[in-house]
Amino acid sequence: MSKPTNLTPEKEFIFDYVEKNADAIATLGDSIFYFGELGMQEFETAKLMTGILEEHGFKVERGISGFPTGFCATYGSGHPVIAMHTEYDANPDNSQVAGITDQKGIVEGAPGHCEGHNVNGAVLVASALAAKEAIDKFGFKGTLKIFGAPAEEQLVSRPFYVRDGWFDDVDVAFHDHVGQVFGCGYGIMQSALISATYNFHGESAHAGVVPWKGRDALDAVVLMDMGMAQYREHMMPTMRAQRVITNGGDQPNIIPRLASVWWYFRDSTADGARKLLDQAEKIAKGAALMTNTEVEIDVMAAVWPSRGNQTLAELVTANIDIVGMPEWSEDEQLLARTLQEKAKVKVQGLNRDVLPVKAASVQKPSASDSGDVSWKVPQVKMYYPANIPNINSHHWAAGVAIAHSIAHKGAVAGAKAMAGAVIDCLKNPEIVAEAKRTFKEELGGQEYKPLLPLGQKPPVTLNQAMMEKWRPEMTKHYVKKKPVFVS
Ligand SMILES: [Zn+2]
Repeated sequence: MSKPTNLTPEKEFIFDYVEKNADAIATLGDSIFYFGELGMQEFETAKLMTGILEEHGFKVERGISGFPTGFCATYGSGHPVIAMHTEYDANPDNSQVAGITDQKGIVEGAPGHCEGHNVNGAVLVASALAAKEAIDKFGFKGTLKIFGAPAEEQLVSRPFYVRDGWFDDVDVAFHDHVGQVFGCGYGIMQSALISATYNFHGESAHAGVVPWKGRDALDAVVLMDMGMAQYREHMMPTMRAQRVITNGGDQPNIIPRLASVWWYFRDSTADGARKLLDQAEKIAKGAALMTNTEVEIDVMAAVWPSRGNQTLAELVTANIDIVGMPEWSEDEQLLARTLQEKAKVKVQGLNRDVLPVKAASVQKPSASDSGDVSWKVPQVKMYYPANIPNINSHHWAAGVAIAHSIAHKGAVAGAKAMAGAVIDCLKNPEIVAEAKRTFKEELGGQEYKPLLPLGQKPPVTLNQAMMEKWRPEMTKHYVKKKPVFVS
């Protein structure tokens, strides 16, 4: 990117800091890429990120809200309290060699990053360090709270953080996410989602000899399915309910003692998702009653629709405008075009322009566990340009650019813009006051209540078996070099 002119001394300082540490940012993002850790199993990733933050003077609390791979790193004192947060989990069967234009696993079939959450981690750490350095140099008052959020792909951690009070003292929140664009939006952007498993408990019996002695848990799953199918006729058009049967018994000659079905409930509003959950509970209990079984409901994730605050979106966009798009090389453009051709999507290369904030976003049916934060405090989700346009996340092609110079440049741009916006809030606390005022207006009196049941505990064994299976092979590909950030 060409060097911006007329920068304030603070901006010049943090942009220099980020530039100077471009190599460390790339190494950190690549390290997380090769860790390829699934949600709740991001042990190496969290260790590396927290280690760097700690070395640079952040006070790190690990294992927050019962998440072994979650953390909160704090620096500074007093208000404004500025939260920065992101996720760093990978996906199953997404192992992909970086920088090539064909599908090839680093370890064939293993978990891997095919979206770019690895780069999220690097941008988070880099912008946190840049903001901290600026606090030291310019004597700003305020606190940075840096959150590592495990298992975004399963929508898990941040609702627990919000429920448990980690955001109670936060004034504004910044969330960085990998994108194909450089920009952010405001308004309601995503949807609410509740993920719940219904475990039915019955009694086994010989299916041929004494089936009347059994209490069939699978029957309950089937009847719950029928009840939900009938209810579907009366759902609002915005509602969605889908399921997979995760345990249907072992063999037909044994009446299944245990059976489980995993449901996703979506709606454009948190209330709608809660309504689906409530109705599903009645249907599940009805199914249990009909089959002489018992049901136990496990809510794994429950997220509000994520929203963006207009004041913060405009602030971040102003910083994005200053930073500008990375200057892509011909090789990078060629890689992007070749990949777009092979993935059979529109061939347009890499984006050359940043995204303006034009109007409120259009709500999408997808969900993110950062949604709950966005109802608790003013939040902006900034997309930085570290992946190739039109390529779908979780497809092998989305893994090609994210440990490559495209992602390295995009991460530098992203860290500058996010740190720039944070510094603006520290230097001019009236921006924070304005964000809080517009946030209140945007909420229009709607009250945030966690969708997550009060006693719900994090699913700490999630993805454990899969990660244990693949990790020994994956370890061989870990990046040897350590990311070293210098002042
Ligand atoms: Zn994501």
